[in-house]
Amino acid sequence: MPELPEVETERGRLAARLEGRRIDTARIDDPRLTRPDEPAWIAAGLSGEHVDAVERRGKYLVVRLAGGQVLVVHLRMTGSFRYEPASHERAVLELDDGTRIAYRDVRRFGTWLLLEQDDAERHLAIRLGPEPLGRGFTAAHVAGRLAGRKAPVKAAILDQRTVAGLGNIYADESLWDARIHPLRPAGGLTAEEVARLREGIRRALRVGIRRQGADLGDGTYAGGRMQHEFRVYGRTGEPCDRCGTPIEKTRAGGRGTWYCPGCQS
Ligand SMILES: [Zn+2]
Repeated sequence: MPELPEVETERGRLAARLEGRRIDTARIDDPRLTRPDEPAWIAAGLSGEHVDAVERRGKYLVVRLAGGQVLVVHLRMTGSFRYEPASHERAVLELDDGTRIAYRDVRRFGTWLLLEQDDAERHLAIRLGPEPLGRGFTAAHVAGRLAGRKAPVKAAILDQRTVAGLGNIYADESLWDARIHPLRPAGGLTAEEVARLREGIRRALRVGIRRQGADLGDGTYAGGRMQHEFRVYGRTGEPCDRCGTPIEKTRAGGRGTWYCPGCQS
């Protein structure tokens, strides 16, 4: 499932082709992508529109159209944009310079919403906390979100209102970086640990962006290199890079969770 670094990588590639161009024609073949709206209605809304900007907010892609509307795309499990014909194409955009952009989605959980600007901002604001790499992501914000919560800290940081864009992989990597055990009650962290956690989240996401995300072998986010640098995720039994203790797997918030029992406490 794509997280902030994978979505940011998709954003960069899409922006390079789409920004400043006009969508000549849009075709949407899968009604699941746009429901409750009719795919033909969304396609008609996109056709003929100029694209001002392709932005990212959390795990959402935000395509700003010159006419004032905003296409809000969530890739969910397996959504991606392709620039050569691909299997499992659910939608195709043809641009004024001849570029063909396909939206591919094997599992079909992705969504495209075409919203007025105010509705788009509201849609995102009620679901997402501050961008973890932006100024609003302060230790005070993290502390406020964790305070009084008995849930495991791993579950608390997966809440998109705590950390927009964080998912299962980078949550584990962040907690390893911060040397915090994933099952610790969220409300029990000291101020010093919260500060470490904030830094750990930012560091893990920055590495992920630099490596163009993680390619987990299914070809969806091909080209990512983060999978070669996981410290704990998926590494059951391998020695910790910091202390040599074998990595263990547990569950937190219903998700498979990897950590080092030697140096995460
Ligand atoms: Zn360790």
